[in-house]
Amino acid sequence: MPAISGKEYIKRMNQMNPEIWIKGERAAMPLSEHPAYSGAMKTKAGLYDLQLHPEKIEKMTFETKPGHLAGLSYLRPETKEDLAKRREMMTEWALATCGMMGRTPDYMNTALMSLAASADLLKDQDDEFAKNLVRFYEKARDSDLSFTHSFMNPQTNRSSFYDEETDKPIAAKIIKKTSEGLVIQGARLLATQGGMTDEVLIFPSAGKFTDEEYAYAFSIPSNTKGLSFICRESFHEGDSRFNYPLSSRFDEMDALLVFNEVTVPWERVFFYHRQDLAQKLFQQSCFIPQALHQTVNRQLVKSQFLLGLSQLLVQTLNVSEYQHIQSKISEVIIGVESTQAMLEKAENDAVQDNWGTMRPSTHPLYSAVCQFSSLYPRYIEILQLIGAGGYMSLPGEEDFSSPVSDSLDDYLASAAYDARSRTKIFRLAWDTAMSSFGTRQTQYERFFFGDPVRLSSNLYWNYPREEYLSRVKQFLNLKDPFSM
Ligand SMILES: Cc1cc2nc3c(=O)[nH]c(=O)nc-3n(C[C@H](O)[C@H](O)[C@H](O)COP(=O)(O)OP(=O)(O)OC[C@H]3O[C@@H](n4cnc5c(N)ncnc54)[C@H](O)[C@@H]3O)c2cc1C
Repeated sequence: MPAISGKEYIKRMNQMNPEIWIKGERAAMPLSEHPAYSGAMKTKAGLYDLQLHPEKIEKMTFETKPGHLAGLSYLRPETKEDLAKRREMMTEWALATCGMMGRTPDYMNTALMSLAASADLLKDQDDEFAKNLVRFYEKARDSDLSFTHSFMNPQTNRSSFYDEETDKPIAAKIIKKTSEGLVIQGARLLATQGGMTDEVLIFPSAGKFTDEEYAYAFSIPSNTKGLSFICRESFHEGDSRFNYPLSSRFDEMDALLVFNEVTVPWERVFFYHRQDLAQKLFQQSCFIPQALHQTVNRQLVKSQFLLGLSQLLVQTLNVSEYQHIQSKISEVIIGVESTQAMLEKAENDAVQDNWGTMRPSTHPLYSAVCQFSSLYPRYIEILQLIGAGGYMSLPGEEDFSSPVSDSLDDYLASAAYDARSRTKIFRLAWDTAMSSFGTRQTQYERFFFGDPVRLSSNLYWNYPREEYLSRVKQFLNLKDPFSM
């Protein structure tokens, strides 16, 4: 069966042996037992098991041919019903991770599906490249491959006047073309889940470096010779679910990708030396609306979780009578409702594109993701403001079986909960709002889809508002300045 179980995922990863560096050492295999990866890999395995669960399998998979069930996030939607099915499937995985795992496999499965759905755009360079992308999508769907990706060059110098002129490439570029394929040297940012996926999908970073050597797209296995992952430090602080309810499960890892004369076989190349194709693919394929459909759905589930958590803090401390507390919870409610409304509008206004793919409407989704980059830090601030000093009197699980446990029971109980339950609640709020894991979550929601400043600038340039402008001009009886 194409759709895999958790056991198959773990087995496949443990056989790969990619080159992963963490804290100055090469990560020892099996990867699923490495402390930096074990929590997230176990969670990911649980997601794959969920898709095969007898009660969920119909909702989580689709038939590609008789007897072959693939993960539903690989489904190319042709109708609004397909879009709704995709959303329901993605919601299952988002609920299972409280929306805290940005790169559940549906994110990249969706990205690959949507790029392949518009593969015709690549015929402009070569029919074979368009076929490569479609064939690769089918292979990924039929083997349930999982992906990390990089769309970014290293943060060496972001001045708009900067062009790289170093002897040794910093941003990964094509250094050679051989009969086998492209040879890549240099680095790319920032592969979330780097090392714990089958494949690494590389696309050009939009708009930077006009040199065609930086314009290429391909996918290669994580254990390709010459490819290495250099990890940040792990935020998986310990295995205790009580002490680290989120970081022990969901810390996905982020890694710098280094290409040391990596050969990318021609059948894995989707285009090269064509900056214009990179632009075209981002602008004309359904990548943005489909990826945002997955994203905004996850962000909705995460917002609902934060609403529940904020309310639980309010109950725990019995502070609901204060108006500023009500107003803070209302802010989260407004965030939840507006995110949901934008998601529904995007589905209602969906239209089929030139290739027969049903595209959710981009503007509501783009607005939602822009809004979320400032909503999320505010949700976190609200958690911090409600919990106040409670975050600083947080014993661990072990303290409850130590000689001081009686004191904890006496002094840490709250209006609504005994000391142990209150501590459990506060540890969850702390892991959401204050731990290293929680802080990364805030940075993730701000940046993972791109710099929020440039995202809102894109919205400014692309949002159609001529009708509203002319209404106001008509009201004032103003002429168009350019026709005067
Ligand atoms: C937790 C996390 C996980 C991520 N995972 C992935 C991943 O899996 N794959 C992937 O490809 N990427 C990933 N990213 C990277 C993400 O795509 C980038 O962070 C984002 O695109 C912004 O780029 P940057 O971080 O290089 O910031 P920079 O572009 O270096 O920006 C730095 C600062 O300069 C400002 N600035 C720079 N250039 C301009 C400009 N032209 N106009 C206006 N302001 C400018 C920015 O606003 C910002 O304040 C991840 C990021 C985070 C935080």
